[in-house]
Amino acid sequence: MEPKLDGNAAAGTLQEIFPFDMTLAQATCAGCGATDVIGALAVYMHGMGTVVRCPSCDTVLIRMAQTKGRYFLDMRGVLVLQIGTEA
Ligand SMILES: [Zn+2]
Repeated sequence: MEPKLDGNAAAGTLQEIFPFDMTLAQATCAGCGATDVIGALAVYMHGMGTVVRCPSCDTVLIRMAQTKGRYFLDMRGVLVLQIGTEA
């Protein structure tokens, strides 16, 4: 079992992909409908990449992997992603 981290641990990789502060973006879980800021989600980092899970129901919200200069982003567990336009 990988150590559990919070969403801020995934911020570095997300920051390379998205041009805004993803720790403040809000994700709605497709499994249970809970909405949390990315920074508050449960993050597991391991050799294959990063997995972001819903803290309420454990649904996988985001899977990220990076290989050979290419990012792979699986966001099927995110029903809605809300991104603030204020800094
Ligand atoms: Zn959930």
